[in-house]
Amino acid sequence: MKIDHEAKTITFRQSWLNNYFNCPEQVRRLMLEPDEDQSSDAAILGTGVHAYAELRLLGEDRVVATAAAFNALDHEFSLPHRIVQMSEDKVYSFIPAMLASFERDLLPQVERGGECEVEFKLLLGEWNGWTIYVSGTIDYVAPSGDLWDWKTAGRKYEKWEKERWAIQPTIYSFAAVTLGKSEYPVRWRYGIVLKSPVKRPETQVVEFYRREGHIEWVTHQIYSILETHRFDIDLQENCGGTLASPLVPWVKNDQHALCSEKWCPFWSTCKGQFVV
Ligand code: SF4
Repeated sequence: MKIDHEAKTITFRQSWLNNYFNCPEQVRRLMLEPDEDQSSDAAILGTGVHAYAELRLLGEDRVVATAAAFNALDHEFSLPHRIVQMSEDKVYSFIPAMLASFERDLLPQVERGGECEVEFKLLLGEWNGWTIYVSGTIDYVAPSGDLWDWKTAGRKYEKWEKERWAIQPTIYSFAAVTLGKSEYPVRWRYGIVLKSPVKRPETQVVEFYRREGHIEWVTHQIYSILETHRFDIDLQENCGGTLASPLVPWVKNDQHALCSEKWCPFWSTCKGQFVV
């Protein structure tokens, strides 16, 4: 979430919304301590697969795309990151087999000739004198208007969960339609490679559709966040501070798997103070 008081604009990224609906308190703390917002070793694998996918879809050969994947890992590991699952060596040992699975199982299912890494910042609506935007980057828009997003995961996705409440497909579908690249209903596909060093890690395609009603609902959700933090937004304007007050906690939601010592950087000063 980015607030520009001069322009009177508020911009939301889908990942911020996703985190907010998991745990508002975690989002508040990340705004106060942005250095804690680091990639994990598990997420770094995804960066490698993304680099490979992009170059293969742009027509580069496997050698060049594989080198780009390893370069992406090098770059990510040169930045501060959190070790939550595996050592650097292990990440490097996983990537060749995962790229091979992407190549064999997912790539043949992708319609070629589309656009990679489509960035957008689009008007969503008006609220209380503010102009509201959503922003993001779509991994791949096929010529037919189908959208793809590449994921790496420790276990298979449950389609019903993603179809029912995932925000990313809704916002990206809205973007693709607004940009004239797709039409509702938009076909959304997660192309997933499971994290594994074995010769042929499993892959999965999770497909569903997004319609106008989905973006209307997410817009209502966004307005509910704005109403909840109406005073924080005003306070930021008056005090030049951050939206997140250092003194007043937001809702602490632990009803999700990421509220754990492994995945939440604030565990030790939050739930971890009470429950080991
Ligand atoms: S420990 Fe749990 S409740 Fe506390 S900030 Fe992290 S995710 Fe939220």
